[in-house]
Amino acid sequence: MESTFLDRRIEFLKGVGPTKAQLLNTEIGAFTIEDLLLQYPFRYIDKTKQYFIKDIQRDGEQILLKGKIVQVKMIKGKRAKRLVATLKDPTGFIELVWFRGATYVQNMLIEDNEYSVYGRINIFNGKKSIPHPELENLSQGKANLKQERLDPVYHSTEKLNARGLDTKARKRLVKNILAQLHEVDLPEILDDYIIQKLSLCSRMQAIQWIHFPEDNTQLQAANNRIKFEEIFFLQLRILQSKTLREEKKDGWVFEQVGTKFTKFYNENLGFELTNAQKKVIKEIRADMGSGIHMNRLLQGDVGSGKTIVGLMCMLLAIDNGFQACLLAPTEILAYQHYTSTIDMLKGVGIRTAFLSGSVKGKKRKELLQFLINGEIDILIGTHALIEDPVKFKNLGLAITDEQHRFGVIQRAKLWEKNKTKPPHILVMTATPIPRTLAMTLYGDLDVSIIDELPPGRKAVKTVHKTEARRPEVLQFMHKEIAKGRQIYVVFPLIEESAKLDLQNLQTGYDQLEHYFPKSDFQISVVHGRMKARDKESEMQRFVQGKTNIMVATTVIEVGVNVPNASIMIIENAERFGLSQLHQLRGRVGRGAEQSYCILMSSYKLSVDAKTRIKTMCNTNNGFEIAEVDMKIRGHGNIQGTQQSGISKFKLLNLVLDHEIIKTARLIAQHLLKHDPELTKPSHQRIKSHLDSLNRKFIDLGEIS
Ligand code: ADP
Ligand code: MG
Repeated sequence: MESTFLDRRIEFLKGVGPTKAQLLNTEIGAFTIEDLLLQYPFRYIDKTKQYFIKDIQRDGEQILLKGKIVQVKMIKGKRAKRLVATLKDPTGFIELVWFRGATYVQNMLIEDNEYSVYGRINIFNGKKSIPHPELENLSQGKANLKQERLDPVYHSTEKLNARGLDTKARKRLVKNILAQLHEVDLPEILDDYIIQKLSLCSRMQAIQWIHFPEDNTQLQAANNRIKFEEIFFLQLRILQSKTLREEKKDGWVFEQVGTKFTKFYNENLGFELTNAQKKVIKEIRADMGSGIHMNRLLQGDVGSGKTIVGLMCMLLAIDNGFQACLLAPTEILAYQHYTSTIDMLKGVGIRTAFLSGSVKGKKRKELLQFLINGEIDILIGTHALIEDPVKFKNLGLAITDEQHRFGVIQRAKLWEKNKTKPPHILVMTATPIPRTLAMTLYGDLDVSIIDELPPGRKAVKTVHKTEARRPEVLQFMHKEIAKGRQIYVVFPLIEESAKLDLQNLQTGYDQLEHYFPKSDFQISVVHGRMKARDKESEMQRFVQGKTNIMVATTVIEVGVNVPNASIMIIENAERFGLSQLHQLRGRVGRGAEQSYCILMSSYKLSVDAKTRIKTMCNTNNGFEIAEVDMKIRGHGNIQGTQQSGISKFKLLNLVLDHEIIKTARLIAQHLLKHDPELTKPSHQRIKSHLDSLNRKFIDLGEIS
């Protein structure tokens, strides 16, 4: 049974209208009433803790006071007026101040009435006040709304706040939805015995409590219930699709190791494979020779040598009469794979081609023709490669590099590139997650891990510097450039404003140009808004060693390989996530020289930012970093989960909620073991919810 109320578009909600609906669409991706309802608060303000005025100490602290308004005064300043009300409690006085809407508030305030006041303390020159507090009149009858509770705070954006859709307004909208919500809209989807066994609250109850819990017990109960649901149904889907895949067992068989593979291995490969690489190639070969369709995740830290492994697998495919393709998330990376592949395969007799959005017209037409005729062995490119007109003669292996940028849906599109039988799939990722978690998340994939770096790598030395130490950093840069090294300087992407991004980058560039004048130094610039061709040529100048410094936004984050670049300077490092920092650092330390990563930040840092930076300085190990990252970020923000389509956890934290995950997996396994098709009457709710989830994903084009 599906709810028509929840499927309704938000513009039909009271208080929303077309303009606000549009904003909610674009800013937080909410289109239907359900979308809005399922965006849970990200934190709660504990309004149960009441303060006394004498105890106020910290600037910026958010607090709840109770007291009497003893005086209300309009003060006319030079340019504008402000309203000042004085609040008295048993321990002292404090001023409440309004700059906006002063007249309105003045008319509303009643002297000598008791109020509850909530707001952020401002301490200026030792004087304490609360600007624009939230008020509730306790002397008037209508204040019988329960006061003691946890107040939800929703994720918002500048734009939403500016247009009156701040957290308060969101609260009203959600309240409004909850008031109209009936049991039929959120019917129970778990069977009674599970609910009883785990003492879960109902689905309806959980949704109410997650938005408006009266106390921590309710909040906890809501969390438990929702988290369990999130992981339980994912587990069921994964286990089911895995069984299905194992039953199908229908993959191309690559029987032989042929001449191309052997020639490459004996003549072109300039180094010994690490044991980890050998082990992984064996695993992949076994898959591709078995007749079972391969769907494998290859994990390995940055620089562990995944590319070579991918390349050798492609040669296996080609030796068995198939084509192969390699998909990369950015044009720069795809092109780099293309040139390095050509380079590595010199003399092996492989026809390699490149395709991206910027390959157009006659060239594109020709390429597509070659591809379908089988005159191209390896096609390397961006996601332009999965578009419909791109047809292969017989694609046997599809590799995606840096998987976190691709979703399940795109992977599924690759399957369709061979209509007879899907090509084998190898997904390479440098975002290592612990194996057990990988199995939970990517249960539909088998997992191979390269857990060893090629020999002779020196660990990158990572240091943290604040702005005050800039001169030192500049001096160091000069010294390293004099030794012939190259340097990356990376600026963060400021998502809300592409304009600010450029400004930021431009200022940084100007500053660098001042210290590294054009007469003696060359600087490359790459950012997201440049044309692909310009980006490529700037990148190439750096690759070829023609420029000393590469100034870039995070477009270079992924995969780029310039062994002579040995210094990575990350500006505003506090703005980057941990895995992103680790990826960026992975750009250096690829040559024989000692490499450095310098994290620049302002002096003031949030607790999380401090943890991230400290972690980076302490370890080079991607797995350790991934674990810290998961602990900090929680809520399914790990790269890969967002786009994976099947696992948009809103509340579940893959590290902290270990127990819930274990329980959910056990129950799911047990259930499917005794009732694989979920035909028993006691499993009907679960089955019908699972069916509706599957329908949703099939609508999205996912195959599993
Ligand atoms: P990543 O896993 O990050 O994709 P790459 O495949 O780009 O790593 O490899 C990084 C560098 O290490 C490349 O220059 C590659 O040629 C080199 N490399 C890969 N495997 C080995 C090895 N076994 N011995 C020495 N160098 C290697
Ligand atoms: Mg790589």
